[in-house]
Amino acid sequence: MSNTFKNYINGSWVDGSGDTFENRNPADTDDLIGTFPSSTAEDVARATEAAREAYRSWRLVPAPKRGDILRKAGDILARRKDELARAMTREMGKPVFETKGDVQEAIDTAYYSATETRRLFGYNAPSEMPDKMNLSFRMPIGVCGIITAWNFPMAVPSWKILPALACGNTLVYKPSEDAPHSGNLMAEVLEEAGLPKGVFNVVHGAAEAGNAIVEHPDIKVIGFTGSTETGKAIAAKAGGMNKQVSLEMGGKNAQIVMPDADMDLALDGVLWGAFGTTGQRCTATSRLILHEDIHDDFVNRLIEKASALKLGPGLEEGTEMGPVINEKALDKVTEYVRIGREVDGATCILGGDRAGEEDATLGRGHFFLPTIFIDVNRNMRIAREEIFGPVLSVLKIGSLTEAIEVLNDTPYGLSSSLYTKNVNDAFRAIRDIEAGITYINVPTIGAEAHMPFGGVKGTGNGHREGGWTVFDIFTEWKTVYIDYSGSLQRAQIDNYDE
Ligand code: NAD
Repeated sequence: MSNTFKNYINGSWVDGSGDTFENRNPADTDDLIGTFPSSTAEDVARATEAAREAYRSWRLVPAPKRGDILRKAGDILARRKDELARAMTREMGKPVFETKGDVQEAIDTAYYSATETRRLFGYNAPSEMPDKMNLSFRMPIGVCGIITAWNFPMAVPSWKILPALACGNTLVYKPSEDAPHSGNLMAEVLEEAGLPKGVFNVVHGAAEAGNAIVEHPDIKVIGFTGSTETGKAIAAKAGGMNKQVSLEMGGKNAQIVMPDADMDLALDGVLWGAFGTTGQRCTATSRLILHEDIHDDFVNRLIEKASALKLGPGLEEGTEMGPVINEKALDKVTEYVRIGREVDGATCILGGDRAGEEDATLGRGHFFLPTIFIDVNRNMRIAREEIFGPVLSVLKIGSLTEAIEVLNDTPYGLSSSLYTKNVNDAFRAIRDIEAGITYINVPTIGAEAHMPFGGVKGTGNGHREGGWTVFDIFTEWKTVYIDYSGSLQRAQIDNYDE
């Protein structure tokens, strides 16, 4: 069954003004999910106008009332969790148990944002003058443009959309062209929850539509998740227009395992971190940094476990690893394996190839084998660049100090993990690792909705989504001074004697 999907503007489903594009199931390219508008600047302008108009009243709705709508959205997401997860698996491939987690993160964020609408605290401070009061408030900013990647089609957008709405902003949202259906499902949920028309608008498409959002003068804030390359280009353009930009970008995350670690726990951790979501997470474990005393034994056990992973369509019961997103991603992963072997000179000891081209099921999708390289050093491209697929590079080190140096030696700084039972080593690592997130005895993934999320270096630009910090992205401060003395009191002048 195929469908023609539309943009969602001012509470109505409308055609785009340009061409359309197809979205297909990456596990079965014969399965056409539907066609979506390749939106143009004209469509973005229409959505922005609706959002600008809706902002006039939405900003005045008391924040806890906005929270009531978000709470209802959480209830609807919870009611539709299984259906939304299946639709998401069909469009981007990860197994249903993972897409259920993706929806759950959106549910958590909805409830979290709803409760925080009663706590959008400003602060008061004493005045330096008598009979004068100083206050400050968080104010909404206006129309925000939200542009996201495809790998967490509900969770990642929800981290931006729901807090931004809680703060009283209105939105133009462009989902990834590789996961567009989830964008429409989000619009359905918010509409059913009672969001007034025009407050949330969805415009489909790829770079052209994204660029039109960045360039529209009435869009004041850009919330972006995607590659570092795209994010930097957006920031350069938006900077010239004096827009606020929050960037969540790529990663090259590492897990360190020390000899005193619980080996079974560390093995389970790296298996999930490296091959969950087929390695296509910003927080995926793409480097494993092993102490030399345990290296060989750990690698052998890891090969055994990784080669037993069940590949297949995410909608099939028992599948542990789904396809990569599209043909382009398959080519990119294949090219990095070639680079690892032929340019870097590392040893591919597992996988390294497309999976099941002759297989009746796997042959219909974009499957790649779980792949492990050993004999990797920190200067190799496979140790430094984001591959975004099921490829793990193993590096051998002799001490924790060396492990941290190697971990820090990439252009990225999102997530990191250390497996050890030594509490002193754990605290040193927490202090010295250059990353937005450090996990101890936990894989590089597992963010929770109420904690700050984001990275340093090439991963971010100083903002954090998740937790309270996201409200800094979607509000601006208003400072208010109230003088009830009845006379002119000149600050810094009348209250200080010469
Ligand atoms: P991408 O950069 O290709 O695309 C991201 C979004 O930007 C898409 O919606 C795309 O249509 C849009 N876009 C592309 N060119 C644009 C332009 N010139 N102007 C405006 N918008 C444009 O990334 P992707 O392949 O969709 O996603 C994978 C990347 O996302 C990886 O690097 C991954 O690490 C990163 N990611 C980061 C996080 C995080 O929170 N740090 C989370 C998920 C994914």
